[in-house]
Amino acid sequence: MNQHTKPETAPIPFIDLAAQRKRMGGAVEAAVARVVAGGQYILGPEVTELEKRLAQFAGARHAISCSSGTDALQMVLMAKGVGSGDAVICPSFTFCATAEVVALLGAVPVFADVDAGTFNINAKSAEAAIARAEKLGLEAKAIMPVDLFGLSVDHDAVAKVAEEHGLFVLDDAAQGFGATYKGKPIGSFGLATATSFFPAKPLGCYGDGGAIFTDSDELAAALISIRVHGAGSDRYDNVRIGLTGRLDTIQAAVLIEKLKIFPDEIAARDKVAKRYNDGLAKVAIVPAVPAGHTSVWAQYTIRLKPGQRDGFANTLKEQGIPTAIYYPKPLHKQTAYKDFPVAEGGLPVSDTISDQVISLPMHAYLDEPTQDRIIEAAKRALS
Ligand SMILES: *Cc1c(COP(=O)(O)O)cnc(C)c1O
Repeated sequence: MNQHTKPETAPIPFIDLAAQRKRMGGAVEAAVARVVAGGQYILGPEVTELEKRLAQFAGARHAISCSSGTDALQMVLMAKGVGSGDAVICPSFTFCATAEVVALLGAVPVFADVDAGTFNINAKSAEAAIARAEKLGLEAKAIMPVDLFGLSVDHDAVAKVAEEHGLFVLDDAAQGFGATYKGKPIGSFGLATATSFFPAKPLGCYGDGGAIFTDSDELAAALISIRVHGAGSDRYDNVRIGLTGRLDTIQAAVLIEKLKIFPDEIAARDKVAKRYNDGLAKVAIVPAVPAGHTSVWAQYTIRLKPGQRDGFANTLKEQGIPTAIYYPKPLHKQTAYKDFPVAEGGLPVSDTISDQVISLPMHAYLDEPTQDRIIEAAKRALS
């Protein structure tokens, strides 16, 4: 805080990675220094160690670390041979990477609507998207639900649609790693789960990183090959087209340290979310967490009345409180994606909520006085 800033308007960070670093008391720096001294920068022992711990955490047989959340998604689609003539069902209200990897491989993302309460894919709309794909002569191969803002998807509903139509499920848990559904961790649903360790995600490293979870030995073997240029058992006979998809050893070392405090951070985020909910339920639509689901609160996102959002954001900004809009445009309205098909019946929920949602500062180190300042400012702005 600079001496001319009044405490009541001092800027609040949206995500406070410095507070986390301080709490960890040099553990990350020491872990990085060990890798630097050890010299195994590519697929060093920390990568194997992290994968073991991640698999245990997620309740999956295999965890395969990789270069980013986007690559994690792409690698699974590559391993399954998704390409030209195929359709993959994705929600439209998500980060672009979900559909990007589908299009990049020459397949067609077909957009489904989301549920107005959870912002996660709506199973009925997913069925309508499959119908649309079939009408277009595409073969629907997969559903990619997204555990948006950290809230677990209704995995039973998604699995039912997938089974009925013979699709595999790739869960985009870039925001939802650490959440649970019916008591089981995200990472244990569908054929595979992809997550991201981008610094701002609930479990982030100090650069780019990601991981894939699966119980399938066959898929795991293909992913390990794809991660290193499609390598076969003979180093000089590559057996498929792959990527440079590895996680750096330094980032694995960072993640081993951060994973140790992750459960505690999830509990702290949940406490922050509950206080926000209690404080704001009367002035906005606060996020719903259905029974049997948990959230890791990658974002704390409220829904305002039509026309309130810009004024609300400006009023908070004047008081040093940052907000963010995830997402102002659903994918089916973005330039690069607007020509891809959408579910029959359109995507009315995605169209509506993208004009009304706004996210408040959220991290595990948001103290109660700061949170109260945000709650009071939001209440004043909305009443
Ligand atoms: C962040 C994110 C990704 C991509 O992760 P990167 O590590 O940045 O590549 C994919 N899907 C969703 C929903 C995300 O939020």
